[in-house]
Parts: sequence; structure tokens; C-alpha cells
Amino acid sequence: MIKIDKPTQPPISKKLKDELKVATDLLCKEYLNNKADYNAGEKAFSFDNDLYKGGSKKEIKEQLLHIQGYKCCFCEKKLTQYDDVEHFRPKTAYQRYKGDALNYPAYYWLAYNWDNLLIACKVCNSSYKGNLFPLFNEDNRARNHLADISLENPLLINPATENPEDFIGFRRAFAYDKNERGRQVIEFFNLNEDRRNEKDFYQDELYSERERIFWLVKNANFVANLFPTDSITQNDIDEAREIVEMHKQKDAPFAAMIRANFP
Ligand SMILES: [Zn+2]
Repeated sequence: MIKIDKPTQPPISKKLKDELKVATDLLCKEYLNNKADYNAGEKAFSFDNDLYKGGSKKEIKEQLLHIQGYKCCFCEKKLTQYDDVEHFRPKTAYQRYKGDALNYPAYYWLAYNWDNLLIACKVCNSSYKGNLFPLFNEDNRARNHLADISLENPLLINPATENPEDFIGFRRAFAYDKNERGRQVIEFFNLNEDRRNEKDFYQDELYSERERIFWLVKNANFVANLFPTDSITQNDIDEAREIVEMHKQKDAPFAAMIRANFP
């Protein structure tokens, strides 16, 4: 996980911004008109996914992909065309912990909110995160759009607003915790293993991939620090330095791990 430099204002057209505002106002009005039904889970919101996902309006998805360097916001794997925009705070229903019942409504008013949108890989999103949004202070959970989400202390790290390096470090390819929240997030996304995509039944080689890149850069870093000899030219050394630098760039997969190992 690496810090994402996300602009505070969405870099999208005014037309889409206006549409998002209208759609959000409508959801809030709808909630106030049928508060009891929504709180009881008897009525469910319907969302226009095209507004942020794609369809004719791919603006948000394209911007997020670009800003995130085409990487998952949680595991730093390269994204594919099948990965989708994800809501940091779930929009329809939320669970406080694994196995908890679904609680309605969730953060409907943030469904189209730029600050709440990120792109995650299918495995982080479907197999691990889903509707989970645990808080350390459940009593302060914002239950509707009139509440203040800044009072919430979420377990999950939002890489657009917090620096994951404050919570998670790397020793070789292994992610280690720097504090309790780091520990829980590593466990939450199973960041130190090859994971299983529960939905499509395939193996996600998260740890193996990270390890392959670690060894590649470690070897390059070794050469980068040599002096030219009969068998190693200055050109070899320069190329090795380039390889190390390339893997530290923010759009390189697992750049946080490389930066931590080769500062
Ligand atoms: Zn991921």
C-alpha cells in the first residue's frame, strides 16, 4: 500500500460534477422522506453505477486509474480491465466485522463522492473488503448524511488521506506492522500470502509476485553499487540503477516495498 496523491477536487467535467450533485441530493431527500423504512432495511437505495463506473461516463474511472498508477489502492498489484471503482465506505450496506449481518443503510450519501472512490483489484475488493467497514469506535458510526464521518475511527487505511508507510513496513517482500492498525490491515487483506479469489476461483499470486520483484531489484541494486571492472561496464551499472529507480516510481507495482528496502 502506498500514498495516493489524489487531488481534493475531482478532475472531471462540470457536467458530470453537476450530475453527481443532483444524484446525491436526490438520495438524501429520498432518505429523509422514508427514514424509518431505510433504517429498518425495508427500503433499499438504487444507485446509478454508470456515474462513476463506466458506461458512457468513464471519466471518474479513468482519472482514478491514472492517479493510482493503474495499481490496486490496497495491495499495489497492477489492475486489469476487470477491476472496478470501489467505495472506501460501502454505499448499500455495511458489516462491522466478518460474519456480521448486513446493516442498512450504509453510506448512501457518499456513493458519488470523489473522496470515497478508489480503485481496488477484484481480490481485495470482492474476497476481502466487500461490505466490511470496521470502526474502532462503533458508537460514532455515521448512520445518515446528517452525521459527521470525521468522528469515525476506521480500521482500514485510506491511502488517499493517510500515509500507509506510517502503519506498514517491509522486510524484503514481507509486510510487517508498525502498529496495531497496520497489523489489522495486513491481516484484513492477507497481504503476506498468495490469496484466493473466492468469486472466480483463481489464485492471486500477491506474495509470490512481490517476492519476484524484490529479488529482481535486489540483484539490480547489487550491480548498481559496483565499480566498473573488466566484466562489468559503466553501462551495465547505469542500467542497473535505472531498474532500481524504475521500481521506486509511484506507478510501479509494489513500489512501497521497494522504497522501504532500497531507500
Ligand atoms: Zn488489491
